[in-house]
Amino acid sequence: MKDLKLAGLKSERSSIEVRGVTLGGKEIILMGGPCAVESSIQMYESAKTVRKAGGKILRGGVFKPRTSPYSFQGLGLEGLNYLVQAAREQELLCVTEVIDAPSLDMVIDKVDIIQIGARNMQNFELLKLAGKIKKPVILKRGLSATIEEWLLAAEYILAAGNPQVILCERGIRTYEPSTRNTLDLSAVGVAKELSHLPVIVDPSHAAGRRDLISSLSKAAIAAGADGLLIETHPNPAEAVSDGPQSLTPEQFIQLAAELGAVAESVNRIFVLEAQKDKDTLESLRTQIDRIDQTIIESLAARMKIVRKVGDQKRLDRVKDTNREKEVLKRLDSRAKELELSPDLVKKIYPVIFEAAVQSQIKNKLAKDKNLERVSEL
Ligand code: PEP
Ligand code: MN
Repeated sequence: MKDLKLAGLKSERSSIEVRGVTLGGKEIILMGGPCAVESSIQMYESAKTVRKAGGKILRGGVFKPRTSPYSFQGLGLEGLNYLVQAAREQELLCVTEVIDAPSLDMVIDKVDIIQIGARNMQNFELLKLAGKIKKPVILKRGLSATIEEWLLAAEYILAAGNPQVILCERGIRTYEPSTRNTLDLSAVGVAKELSHLPVIVDPSHAAGRRDLISSLSKAAIAAGADGLLIETHPNPAEAVSDGPQSLTPEQFIQLAAELGAVAESVNRIFVLEAQKDKDTLESLRTQIDRIDQTIIESLAARMKIVRKVGDQKRLDRVKDTNREKEVLKRLDSRAKELELSPDLVKKIYPVIFEAAVQSQIKNKLAKDKNLERVSEL
């Protein structure tokens, strides 16, 4: 392999340091998260799981190169913001896949690591672009790529000027149909024998089924992997992509708790102590912001219905003065159940009722004016 001028084995192995996390050192680095970013709450939950498990890096695809053009293609910029925010809240790094120049441009200043997926391993123009950036690149092995082709793909990135490449074995296509792909664990050893680059393993896309992820992850560490990239979803049954291979939060945390012993047996470490939930001031404020947004959205929805009710009342000549009293009574007892001060309800609701009436009046006036205009015509 004479062309592995930069990726070929040197006297020292490379380690890659990203904001305090070292890939290719003694420590096994756990990365996790959903296949695709779906919502802010999904990423918030996923980040909490990864942090609890002792993971360091949050994953989530926002540009999804799907086999079918009709499958979910990713949330793009909106999803990127959810990923970045969730990672920041839990003090994790984040990684996402890029598929072309525009997607690389969009994510480059926001994420810590970029991923080039199996389907793009030999997208040489993309590899050259990844060689121009100053952030680490996780390079997945292609669906049917030999180890030599994979390392030459890494060479493209190195030759273009970026020395920070992490190889990722994610299973290759074989004749065996009982798993999605066949995890080629010998590739970890071979890649490390031929190259100085760190190598991680993604058991999720290799197996395609969650029941095998735990044992394959442990086997990967025993085989010399420097890290693991594992899919986990707050509710795999409802995942928009790769649900069957995604671990539940409990399974992910359980697996992580079992990695330390395996790591130790091969003279590596995995930080065993589970990290506590990170309730920083920033993350608490973000949660409040999210709730405030929901309150405003609910109020807007209420107003819309109130205006419809106004129209309806006009039509039916209904006047139910007891309605406000009934509503207040119901909310008062609900507030008590939720240990919320009933005084708060008593203060807020008259304001909401008043605003509702005003809005109905305004609506009626606008409609009457419209009618006048029509009859004048
Ligand atoms: C992924 O990690 O989301 C992914 C699509 O993986 P791969 O490129 O290995 O199929
Ligand atoms: Mn996936």
